[in-house]
Amino acid sequence: MITFREIFPKYLKICREYSLNMAEAADFSMPDAFAKDYLDRIIKKTEKSLNNTCILYTGRKTKSGYTVIDVRLPGHSRFVPMNVHRLTYMIHTRCIQLNPKNYHVSHLCHTKSCVNISHLSLEPPHVNNSRQNCLSQQRCLKNHMPFPDCII
Ligand SMILES: [Zn+2]
Ligand SMILES: [Zn+2]
Repeated sequence: MITFREIFPKYLKICREYSLNMAEAADFSMPDAFAKDYLDRIIKKTEKSLNNTCILYTGRKTKSGYTVIDVRLPGHSRFVPMNVHRLTYMIHTRCIQLNPKNYHVSHLCHTKSCVNISHLSLEPPHVNNSRQNCLSQQRCLKNHMPFPDCII
């Protein structure tokens, strides 16, 4: 299994290639114990998709189809519900707070319960929204640069 610290330099390289100012967001501010605890919880409730490369979270879902988990962030006393794919992205970047704050963690694969990190993209809301056109046409319109193409 590839550890986060092996993935991290690659992540920074991608950030630089995309000229995105997100490198400082991935700052290892998330304690190891927190990352391990929640990653364990997420992995226990995942299954491989049968027909593609999605990794599906099988736990609690909202009516809108997004998965949720109650999280107590380091330094906080209360549990708050959080989308599991967003938490997964936070664990991989080891960030307590993703920056910019209003960015979405969007699904390149259009599968709401997927937690495969290579199917997730941190991007502005309008880029995430533009992916709906790709979904309705069942092919990527490839107009999301510098963010990745959809996986359809
Ligand atoms: Zn996926
Ligand atoms: Zn697309």
